[in-house]
Amino acid sequence: MLSRRKETKEEELQVEIKCIVCNKRIEITKVHKDFQKLRKDPSLPFVCDDCNNRLRHQAREEQKPKQPI
Ligand SMILES: [Zn+2]
Repeated sequence: MLSRRKETKEEELQVEIKCIVCNKRIEITKVHKDFQKLRKDPSLPFVCDDCNNRLRHQAREEQKPKQPI
């Protein structure tokens, strides 16, 4: 009985969400910074960490001044 209650609790503490960039399904837990927001509204656009890092890296590359060849 106790373990069952624990399971239910754990379910509530994670949200399955899809990354809008790679379509990967991600389970986020309450430790995620957007967890509360996404639990309330799972349709919010979500970008996984991998894509986030990649996009941030790309943005930084684009900001660099282009070197004349
Ligand atoms: Zn992604």
